[in-house]
Amino acid sequence: MDKISIIVPCYNEEKALPAFYRETGAAVREIDGAECEFIFVDDGSRDHTADILESLSASDRRCKYLSFSRNFGKEAAMYAGLQNASGDYCVFMDADLQHPPQLLKEMYHVLKTEGYDCCAGLREDRTGENKLRSILSRTFYKIIRKTCKLDMGDGKGDFRMMNRAMADSVLELKEYNRYMKGIFSFVGFDTKWIPFHNVERTAGETKWSLRSLFRYAVDGILSFSSAPVTMAGTTGALLILAAVITGAWALISGSGLTGIPLLVCLILMLNGVQMFFISILGQYVSKDYMESKKRPIYIVKKKVGFSKT
Ligand code: UDP
Ligand code: MG
Repeated sequence: MDKISIIVPCYNEEKALPAFYRETGAAVREIDGAECEFIFVDDGSRDHTADILESLSASDRRCKYLSFSRNFGKEAAMYAGLQNASGDYCVFMDADLQHPPQLLKEMYHVLKTEGYDCCAGLREDRTGENKLRSILSRTFYKIIRKTCKLDMGDGKGDFRMMNRAMADSVLELKEYNRYMKGIFSFVGFDTKWIPFHNVERTAGETKWSLRSLFRYAVDGILSFSSAPVTMAGTTGALLILAAVITGAWALISGSGLTGIPLLVCLILMLNGVQMFFISILGQYVSKDYMESKKRPIYIVKKKVGFSKT
């Protein structure tokens, strides 16, 4: 019998957890051929989340939990959950029932019968979400699609079930600044997307302020792209070009490269050159930063015909 590890990061989720356990428990009972374990990660909650998890683990041996010493963030909680999961399949779920448990059965079925390594939920809409937040999120995903050559998009979240091979590959990326959506895309493997509609969280409040979302977005871009450094270089080159055009125009028009045209030309040239070299310096720093993450150089999905020794 297969085992599915359901990994649930929880930060102040005392209001949502009872409904989550009830509904997800009912959904997994519908899955034939697999049993499940719940890996709850209490991410330094300041409410009664830990007490609820304690009583769940006392009454149901499938429920396990670990408690962080303080709030380390959802990324850290997902990593810790995955490290402690022993299932043949692992799935990440939010505690607020925004990831419909009814999809678990279909996800497992897809992995078992269709040859995919991962089956992920694709949130089709943002109904019930704050308008400003929706607009900012959409803009962020547009930027990230242009700057990082990875398959990350609006609605492609953390709700996904993966096989052991993919889970182990995700664990191989041990970087401190984690951005799971980028990591899933980085490790590759075949993913099937199944659409679902957004629902409002069952109880409690979102843990993300606009400020924390912005910081998360910047982290995401910096972890997977050096585009901002390249942008500085391009701006520098454009300033140098503008200086040359200003100078040439002053000479051609006969006004001579003196006075204000000379001043403008010098300012553009000096700033351009400075920016250009800062960007070169940035390229070295960003290469070193990527090296320091010690990401695997490649990830093998299958190996055929090699001796076992
Ligand atoms: N979460 C966490 N640590 C945090 C913030 C959030 O473990 O610092 C968990 C939270 O308990 C929930 C999931 O991450 O299970 C998603 O959080 P939330 O629902 O607040 O995010 P949203 O759905 O609003 O993006
Ligand atoms: Mg939520």
